[in-house]
Amino acid sequence: MTNPKQYDKLDIVEMRKPHACQTNRWEIIRMGMDIRIKCQNCGHIVTMTRRDFEKKMKRVLVQNQPKVNPEETQRK
Ligand SMILES: [Zn+2]
Repeated sequence: MTNPKQYDKLDIVEMRKPHACQTNRWEIIRMGMDIRIKCQNCGHIVTMTRRDFEKKMKRVLVQNQPKVNPEETQRK
């Protein structure tokens, strides 16, 4: 459950190396064959393969959507 390598679209992640602008906050804007991340400071976009991304990503800072069963959240 607490696997730091668990990530999803719109999560904010930290990479092993900060961007050239010294910011180390990236938003995942596309998940597919390739992963596309956007620097939260300067808006620079980087595309890399999923394999590359998993190698370069350090941790998830902000998880956009907690992994819960949708039926659970609808129940009141
Ligand atoms: Zn940047």
